[in-house]
Amino acid sequence: MGGHPEDAERSRDGRHWYSIRRLRYGLTVSVNGEEISLDTRKPKGITLVSHAHFDHSLSLGERGEKYTTPGTLSYFSALREPYGEIKTLKIGSKIKMDDVEIGFLESGHIFHSSQFLMDFGDISILYTGDLNPKGGLLAEPAEREECDILIIDSTYGSPKYVFPEREETEEEIRNWVEEEVRRGKIPVLGVYTIGKAQEITKLLCETQLTVIVHPRINKVNSKLEEEFSLNLGDYLSSGNIEAIKIIEDGEFVLLVPPNLGHRAIRKLEEMSGRKASYRRVSGWEIFGEGFPLSDHGDFPSLMEFVSDISPRLVYTVFGHSQRFAKEIKRTLGIEARGLP
Ligand SMILES: [Zn+2]
Repeated sequence: MGGHPEDAERSRDGRHWYSIRRLRYGLTVSVNGEEISLDTRKPKGITLVSHAHFDHSLSLGERGEKYTTPGTLSYFSALREPYGEIKTLKIGSKIKMDDVEIGFLESGHIFHSSQFLMDFGDISILYTGDLNPKGGLLAEPAEREECDILIIDSTYGSPKYVFPEREETEEEIRNWVEEEVRRGKIPVLGVYTIGKAQEITKLLCETQLTVIVHPRINKVNSKLEEEFSLNLGDYLSSGNIEAIKIIEDGEFVLLVPPNLGHRAIRKLEEMSGRKASYRRVSGWEIFGEGFPLSDHGDFPSLMEFVSDISPRLVYTVFGHSQRFAKEIKRTLGIEARGLP
């Protein structure tokens, strides 16, 4: 077995030693010297990428072998240059490597986001990646799979984060957009290019309104639609000639990446001679002016997820990790540790 790290712990029958280490990006799980890199910056050992958000998918642009889902690779290559060897597996697949079998499970976060169940025989470790137990418009609810050790996303792992029902917020978004149009204004929604933008494109294309999206969002939407049987509806890219005519004197809603919101609004007001109103769509808006539609689970749904799985030990990671670990111990009586 060789030497194992000092902080390593033993599995049930003592055949395995494991340790979990948090890195600046992602984390590594090491079992009997076999290293699995989860959403790390650089590939090392068996490298798994849970989904396409920037802070989780950096290794897809680095030399070396990686495993991810087809949708994650598609998202990544719409905006960045993939590099090295990338193997794709669908949600529901399993791969066997040396001592471990790895299952790809739905995480409910964004299109093709995956949890990874690493089964070493006498010890199983589930890493959720970013997690939404309830799922979203383009992701099924997260799967609950039995495991000994659960490493769970705790982005909203504090009791103050309780989101309204998704349908309620969707309704509010539609109503706000329609109301702004009635008032002669241009509604602009700030949505993350990866994930949220596809959901909101789909949501608004189901209304009577014309939906115009920033070219960056258009690029991602179209790529996913081309590569998968996905139909987000009829929308236009703001760079398109037809869209420019509508921007000058038609009624529409515009979707932009949040960091480009202010620039887009200035340009829009110049082109149309009308005022725009801006709102962001993000879980963080629970305490803000925008719409708290999140791709992560809120506190109650994360707690329920842990309780459904009832692992022996929980590691909490990302966001409110210390607080979430404390709450798990207190209310569920399950041993929990917050990763920094
Ligand atoms: Zn994410």
